[in-house]
Amino acid sequence: MNKPIKRSWAEPYKIKMVELIKMTSPAERRKALQEAGYNTFLLKSADVYIDLLTDSGTSAMSDRQWAGMMLGDEAYAGSRNFYHLEEVVKDVYGYKYLIPTHQGRGAENILSKILIKKGDIIPGNMYFTTTRLHQELAGGKFEDVIIDEAHDSESEYPFKGNIDLEKLDKLVKKHGAEKIPYVSMATSVNMAGGQPISMQNLKDLRKYTKKHGIRVIHDMTRVAENAYFIQQREKGYADKTIKEIVKEICSYTDGATMSAKKDALVNIGGFLAVNDWDVFEEARNMVVVYEGLHTYGGLAGRDMEAMAIGIGESVGDDHIKARVGQVIYLGEKMIEYGVPIVKPIGGHGIFVDAKQFLPHIPQDMYPAQTLAAEIYQDSGVRTMERGIVSAGRKANGDNYCPKLELVRFTIPRRVYTQAHMDVIAESTARVFERREKIKGMKMIYEPKYLRFFQARFEKIK
Ligand SMILES: *Cc1c(COP(=O)(O)O)cnc(C)c1O
Repeated sequence: MNKPIKRSWAEPYKIKMVELIKMTSPAERRKALQEAGYNTFLLKSADVYIDLLTDSGTSAMSDRQWAGMMLGDEAYAGSRNFYHLEEVVKDVYGYKYLIPTHQGRGAENILSKILIKKGDIIPGNMYFTTTRLHQELAGGKFEDVIIDEAHDSESEYPFKGNIDLEKLDKLVKKHGAEKIPYVSMATSVNMAGGQPISMQNLKDLRKYTKKHGIRVIHDMTRVAENAYFIQQREKGYADKTIKEIVKEICSYTDGATMSAKKDALVNIGGFLAVNDWDVFEEARNMVVVYEGLHTYGGLAGRDMEAMAIGIGESVGDDHIKARVGQVIYLGEKMIEYGVPIVKPIGGHGIFVDAKQFLPHIPQDMYPAQTLAAEIYQDSGVRTMERGIVSAGRKANGDNYCPKLELVRFTIPRRVYTQAHMDVIAESTARVFERREKIKGMKMIYEPKYLRFFQARFEKIK
């Protein structure tokens, strides 16, 4: 009997240059892990085979972007690459005014300082580390208004990034709209596992905020990935292009901060974009203090050129289909092997549920940290912990015990092949097979701030 024919997608590019990576032996990996205190953040990149630590700044640039690097106009003021970038941001996203910054957090700093006053409340669809910190440093308080489904790893709701308008309304009633300078709305919510917000939810948010005179500021770091899920899942969008959907998303917002190290396919860069002339005026003045002149914002001309070209490539239908397609391919392989992952599969990575994977290891023996170390030991694949270690301690010294205890497999854009995805899934499945023999760890060194970066562990005998 013939096998039914399915039609596969494939990458819309071919490979022109390769970067060789080191293949290590189990003994070499054991030594590297010991030296790193079983923390994947402390491994040397040279000892890593497939690196899934982050999708930030790890994309492969195209031949056009590299050619663009040679067109860098390194004039201090008025570089031609700035004007190109400005034109692309207007064309692709529709925002009127552009301030380049060295990366996303540079834009967050400037925007927070301009819009937030002491005592203000900033509602948002789940916090992001740097975004919330800048809001707090400016005197504001972040309030999570994402729907409840986002906190539930079992829920298969298709738009787990949506904002709960009732939660938002409660905040407006409690504090008054004048205390809320803007809603901090992210597309493809990072901390929820790359979960999208729907266009309907955005339209409803726009209507509500317009009525109350509140701005919507868009964290557009992964807007193209969000647009792909709208195209695939939301009624009325199947025939629209990613570019059209991206522009519509932006049209319901007043401004945006962007980390171009993600969607926009560059290794460094970001920007602030706004529609309001007054905010632009102030930002254009402030950027000089923190980043550089308003026509380079801490970037070289060549970086702005690579970003301008990368933005154009990032909204290509074939590009985004292959990008998210690769993530989904890996997720489905994991599911086939019975590995417990967060569903639905998000846009930028796979999140393995370590509580279900290693149910015999209590949370205070770090199941996700242990699992990340075991996967590296098995195959040299580097992942990271997103659980009790990342969550840190409360002011009274007790550990936060987050509901989600996850290992994150973030996929860099255009870097690895389907064969790499097979190796990752097979390695995870192999560890899953011997899960009952795995023991937890104890923490032997704990830094005071953001402990997950530098903490050290020891295996429990
Ligand atoms: C990475 C990221 C940022 C911060 O951007 P940087 O370029 O790392 O400064 C902000 N928001 C989200 C959602 C991100 O993923």
